[in-house]
Parts: sequence; structure tokens; C-alpha cells
Amino acid sequence: MATQNKTRSMVNEFDVMHDEAEIAQLNSLFEHQKEVDKIAEEMNKPGAVVCRDCDEPISKARRKAVPWAQRCIDCQDVEDRRH
Ligand SMILES: [Zn+2]
Repeated sequence: MATQNKTRSMVNEFDVMHDEAEIAQLNSLFEHQKEVDKIAEEMNKPGAVVCRDCDEPISKARRKAVPWAQRCIDCQDVEDRRH
């Protein structure tokens, strides 16, 4: 039954490879989540994020929706129209 054994070991090998790919994917997701958390933490510091154009605090809702936002909605609107 040598053929059967070979097939079985190939299946195991495939499972291992599949698991490794899955772990790598999970790890990269985890790394990404850590970065997102870091940004969220920065954003939650009171008074840490103000509009770079008018120095008005950027609303929490906007910071949550667009964590990388550098401007308040009004100034971003003006900036978007300029381009
Ligand atoms: Zn502004």
C-alpha cells in the first residue's frame, strides 16, 4: 500500500502549507490592526488633532470616520474643491 501512504503524506504537506499561509495572513492582519489601534490611540488624545488649516478641533465623528484626516470637514471641502 505504498501508493496510499504517499498520497496521505502529500495531503498532510498541503495542510501544513495551507496553515502556514493562513498564519501569515493572520499575522499581517494582526500587524495591520496594531497600526490601526496606534492611530486610533493617537486620535483619541484630547486636543491632539486639530485642523492644520484653521486650528479648529476635528470632530470625533470625523476622526473616527477618517482617522488620517488632517483638516476639519470645512477645510477639507475647500481643499478638495481646489484640486
Ligand atoms: Zn479647518
